[in-house]
Amino acid sequence: MSGRTGEPMLTPAPVRDAEPVLAVADLRVSFRSLEVLRGLDLRVHAGECLAVVGPSGAGKSVLARSLLGLAGEGGAPARVAAATLRIAGRDLRGARERDWRRVRGRHVGLVLQDALGSLDPLRTVHAEVAETLHTSGRPAARGSAPVGERVRDALARAGLPEPDVVARQRPGALSGGMRQRALIASAIVAEPPLLVLDEPTTALDATVAADVLALLGRLRDAGTALLLVTHDLGAVARIADRVVVLADGRAVEEGPTARVLTEPHHAVTRGLLAALP
Ligand code: ADP
Ligand code: MG
Repeated sequence: MSGRTGEPMLTPAPVRDAEPVLAVADLRVSFRSLEVLRGLDLRVHAGECLAVVGPSGAGKSVLARSLLGLAGEGGAPARVAAATLRIAGRDLRGARERDWRRVRGRHVGLVLQDALGSLDPLRTVHAEVAETLHTSGRPAARGSAPVGERVRDALARAGLPEPDVVARQRPGALSGGMRQRALIASAIVAEPPLLVLDEPTTALDATVAADVLALLGRLRDAGTALLLVTHDLGAVARIADRVVVLADGRAVEEGPTARVLTEPHHAVTRGLLAALP
């Protein structure tokens, strides 16, 4: 192909033509007769943060868990169906627990809602973070650094000072912000291209939340795709590139963060904004 002047057209393809790290089309999730997600479409590219916001009960946590094969954990069994469910190029429709175990950690890192409160008080930070390497099936792949080194590196990347000291500590010795960083270290230790974060700042006070968001922003800028599920619009304003508003299991609005937060089109979005302090 050539341009009008006869020179070859060297315009690079827009980045958005690249395969998204997360691609979801017509995702439906139900528990017995309760249909929680009713046909959701999402795409998140490398180096991009997509926020999914919505009122309590909208299905945000169910979405986060469905992307990890955990929708039915600790409750009624989930029925998950999708036209597309792809993470890092892998088709995960109909994936079994064995497949999901390989995907979790390696292809998608997760920080689940309430994980802070459910950290094992007897387990050291090292054990907590190393578990992701073990469950992702490649504790020490040939050519990669030993487990201890990878854990320390993840703790450092998660912004924990003195990673060697922190690695030996148990959750009780850490502040809430440090525990959340330890959970993020656990999510990034196997260097997944996608992070799914469910309310990662909700349990933190404002300054600590701001630090955690800055850390997530750095991971995003280094190329990680982030799916941030939250009702915290302050967090969304700080780090999200795009926003999807979820209500009753459907996306009722989607757009660039600045537009959605300043010129909301949907009543649900206006309601979320009106509830801001
Ligand atoms: P939120 O947007 O506040 O995170 P959730 O995704 O947690 O909302 O919940 C959405 C709906 O799905 C709620 O009605 C909740 O009770 C229901 N739900 C979530 N998990 C299960 C489960 N395992 N079994 C039955 N119902 C569930
Ligand atoms: Mg939730």
